[in-house]
Amino acid sequence: MITIHKALQEARDKLENKTATPLLDAQVILCHVLKVDKLYLIMHKERILTKEEVYEYNEMIKKRLCGVPVQYIIGKQEFMGLDFHVEEGVLIPRPDTEILVEKVLNSIDKDDKYNIVDIGTGSGAITISLAKYMEGSHVYSIDISKKALDIAAKNAESHGVLSRITFLNGSLFKPLNDIGVEGQIDILVSNPPYIPTADIENLQIEVSKFEPKLALDGGEDGLDFYREIINTAPKYVRSGGLIALEVGHDQARRVIELMKEKKGYVDIEITKDLSGIERVVSAGIKF
Ligand code: GLN
Repeated sequence: MITIHKALQEARDKLENKTATPLLDAQVILCHVLKVDKLYLIMHKERILTKEEVYEYNEMIKKRLCGVPVQYIIGKQEFMGLDFHVEEGVLIPRPDTEILVEKVLNSIDKDDKYNIVDIGTGSGAITISLAKYMEGSHVYSIDISKKALDIAAKNAESHGVLSRITFLNGSLFKPLNDIGVEGQIDILVSNPPYIPTADIENLQIEVSKFEPKLALDGGEDGLDFYREIINTAPKYVRSGGLIALEVGHDQARRVIELMKEKKGYVDIEITKDLSGIERVVSAGIKF
C-alpha cells in the first residue's frame, strides 16, 4: 500500500542529485497522475494510491530519472497564464520569453488591429498569447518544423484563437512571399534559435538531449537568425512598425550593432528579464 506521502518521499529520494528540484518534480508528476493540485497532495497525505496510479507515476518518474524534462512528461507548460501542450519536437516555453510578449503588449493601443508576424513559432506560446490579448489582430506564424505548427495549431484551438492565426510552414520570411504582405506588417516578433552551435552540448541535459536542436542552434556565434531577420524585416514591416526580438544573455549589444549597420531601425531599446539579463531588443522601423 502506497500513500501520497510515501510516493513523494520515494521519488524524491530517487531523484535526489539527479535533478535540481527532486520534490517539486515528484509533486508535479503526481498531481498530473491524480489530476489534482499541489494543495490536494498536502491535505491528503495518507490517501492510498491505486495500482494503476502507482504504475503510471513510477513510469513517469523513470523518464524523469533519464533526464526527460517534466514538461514533456506531463505534456504541458504554463506561459502568460495559459496552458500550452508541449511534447518532444517543440521547445518548452520559457518564463523569460514573457518579457517579449509584455514588451509588445506595452507598445500597442489595445483597441487597434495589427498584422503580426512571429518567426519560429514552436508550441505557439508567443503567437497565441498575442492573439489572445490583442483581439482583432492577426498573426502570421511561421515555423520550419511541421510538427511544431501542428502542436501550435492544437494550442491555438484550445485557446479559441485559431481564426486569428495563419500558420505557415517554411524558413524565416519565405512563406510570406506567397501571401503578399510586403510592407503591411505592423509588428514582427521572434525568439529565434540563438545558442552558438558549440555551446549546445554544454547546456543542461534536459535541454541538450531532449529539446530540438532546430529551435536552439543559432550557428557558430548564435547570431545567424538575427542577421537574416534584421536584414529582411524592413521589406515586410511597414514604416512606423515595431520589431521585438528575444536574445541570448550576452547578445543584446551585438544585435543592436546589426540593426545600426542595416539602418532603418530607430528607438532601439533593451528590456531586461526578471534576473536582470538583457533579454529583448526592440526597435521601430522607419524609412
Ligand atoms: N532560452 C533557451 C535556452 O536557454 C534558448 C532558446 C533559443 O535559442 N531561442 O535554453
